[in-house]
Amino acid sequence: MINLSLRELSAALAAREVSAVELATLFLDRIDRLNPGLNAFISQDREQTLAQARAADASGKVGAHDTPLAGIPLAHKDIFCTRGWRTSCGSHMLENFVSPYDAHVVERLAGAGMVTLGKLNMDEFAMGSSNETSYFGPVKNPWDTARVPGGSSGGSAAAIAARLTPAATGTDTGGSIRQPAALCGLTGLKPTYGAVSRYGMIAFASSLDQAGPMAKSAEDCALLLNAMAGFDARDSTSLERPAEDYTRDLEQPLAGLRIGMPREFFGDGMDADVRAAVEAALAEYRKLGATTVEVSLPNSGLSVPVYYVIAPAEASSNLSRFDGVRYGYRAPEYTDLNDMYSKSRAQGFGAEVKRRILIGTYVLSHGYYDAYYLKAQKIRRLIAADFVEAFKQCDVIMGPTSPSVAFAFGAKSADPVQMYLSDIYTISTNLAGLPGMSLPCGFGQGGMPVGLQIIGSWFGEAKMLQAAHQYQKATDWHTRMPENLK
Ligand code: GLN
Repeated sequence: MINLSLRELSAALAAREVSAVELATLFLDRIDRLNPGLNAFISQDREQTLAQARAADASGKVGAHDTPLAGIPLAHKDIFCTRGWRTSCGSHMLENFVSPYDAHVVERLAGAGMVTLGKLNMDEFAMGSSNETSYFGPVKNPWDTARVPGGSSGGSAAAIAARLTPAATGTDTGGSIRQPAALCGLTGLKPTYGAVSRYGMIAFASSLDQAGPMAKSAEDCALLLNAMAGFDARDSTSLERPAEDYTRDLEQPLAGLRIGMPREFFGDGMDADVRAAVEAALAEYRKLGATTVEVSLPNSGLSVPVYYVIAPAEASSNLSRFDGVRYGYRAPEYTDLNDMYSKSRAQGFGAEVKRRILIGTYVLSHGYYDAYYLKAQKIRRLIAADFVEAFKQCDVIMGPTSPSVAFAFGAKSADPVQMYLSDIYTISTNLAGLPGMSLPCGFGQGGMPVGLQIIGSWFGEAKMLQAAHQYQKATDWHTRMPENLK
């Protein structure tokens, strides 16, 4: 049961082989047994989960053709507001925050009949690539608990990899869905900016943040995205487009697909084990009828520095709302209002969050704005223009998701720049607003999973999912799970 796809789970529910309550119980018991060693879940509420499962069983939606997700459990990254559950965003600042409303994504998936198993650990305010910045302690990678699961959606990735949940939500500002998916051997998708509403998703860098699905396969991600995407007037950047069926092209063969391989993604900097797995995946694509062409993204080398100006700038503004007055942590002792603000923020935020706020206020300050922020925005435009050129020659772009397999705890935490380079292949996608995904394509050093990244053109989700699904029909990397957790 724990290895079934969402379609298979739906079929089992429809055939009354299992009920939503039984399915939820199975996963809750597995969480009780395995989560203490992984730290992926940080909030659980058995009663609420079972109440949702009972409601799903009674709803008549389970097994219905138009509600293929009904009765299936999932878990949410703790960045999504969930009514009645704590929403901490991995921070001491929101350690006791219970949201009075549901995020759009939570509402949509609940409306599709899905059952919430709990809330998942993450880097504090989604800032990190290893889950080491969480106030609740790091998540362990189920493939090797001495290694990081990636970040910031590391709890989501570890929970699926250990089969504690069939699916999860994640968010991706610079790689936080794709990089942990790669490091834990999963499939994860960051949609085109604006495709999924950010309402109720705690803001990090608003011009980059996107929510997306994480699961075992591309087909599962397509089904989840069908429920998550769509216009929402509560998010001013939500796009008014007709609804799409993201599963529509899954079964189309790949003959004639043109795959762009950016020269800049295949240079130095990628570990040999990652390169070998990615090149083998591209060879498989050629066998499936696709052709590969070299393309160039000349400005992509600037994406990490550009991101680390723009994202902290937006974060410094977004995080100003956490002031100890309206909600969140308030310092127990202070002398006056200013002292209350500064002590609450000093005690409530962790070191990485403070580093970003400092960088952000610096690059936005008078005298530095033109030199840093404005210049970064101009280069961002050039990075997007590179993709426009590249997509004249290809339908999708492929390359590595992460330069290395999962690294050991502590390996990069002392040097922020080394940590920031973990996202070297994923960040340009966010800067350009493009959709991207990661899927498992083999194993590298230490038996750790390697991820293949697919980048689509704007609104090219269905095409990316088709490419990923056809590969997953021909290979079985996505079906593997850690031996010791079977
Ligand atoms: N690792 C990147 C950062 O720390 C991206 C995080 C994300 O996508 N949320 O900013």
